[in-house]
Amino acid sequence: LFAGGAEFLKGVVAMSGLPPADRIEICFAGRSNVGKSSLINALTGRKGLARASNTPGRTQEINFFTVGPEHYLVDLPGYGYANAPLAKVEKWQRLLKQYLSGRPSLRRAFVLIDARHGIKPVDEEIMALLDSAAVTFQGVLTKADKVKAQDRDRVLAQVREKLSTHPAAFPELVLTSSEKGDGIETLRAIIAGLV
Ligand code: GDP
Repeated sequence: LFAGGAEFLKGVVAMSGLPPADRIEICFAGRSNVGKSSLINALTGRKGLARASNTPGRTQEINFFTVGPEHYLVDLPGYGYANAPLAKVEKWQRLLKQYLSGRPSLRRAFVLIDARHGIKPVDEEIMALLDSAAVTFQGVLTKADKVKAQDRDRVLAQVREKLSTHPAAFPELVLTSSEKGDGIETLRAIIAGLV
């Protein structure tokens, strides 16, 4: 799937801007700085494709990428900025809610979780939104290279326990490192297997 190349298609700020729902779609969500851009770049094999979510102007957009002829990869805005203005946060939450509950071609969301920190309250908010929109989501731990084995096991246990309380959560986790390449092939295979 990813051998076919990936291209940036458009940034969307309102439901009216969404491309037609004519392809299999997957989306990535995560707190700002979780490593979402790095992961998308690693998956697609294109270094500059997804820019860090703090790039000015890109922060509140839902970014669409084409992957091969039949898939969209969707980069949701990073959340959990400490000093984001409330009005902006509310605007993007509204768009996010509309997108998640109104997108029939959306097959799975991947919720990125820093392997050092585990699930935070803002992650739970997104997961609750995915539950209510009945969008199956899968946890992806990022920056696995930055965590010691004993800490990793503790975080994994916390993440598994929290996910088990979410009806839309897919039980299997993926442990990744964009830096070292761990888990990237696994994640590609999961995406390619969604039909
Ligand atoms: P985003 O805000 O979620 O898009 O996060 P970025 O992809 O911009 O990454 C945030 C920071 O974490 C950057 O300094 C990255 O270099 C770093 N980072 C991302 N992924 C990894 C990883 O797998 N391992 C390590 N060690 N650092 C990472």
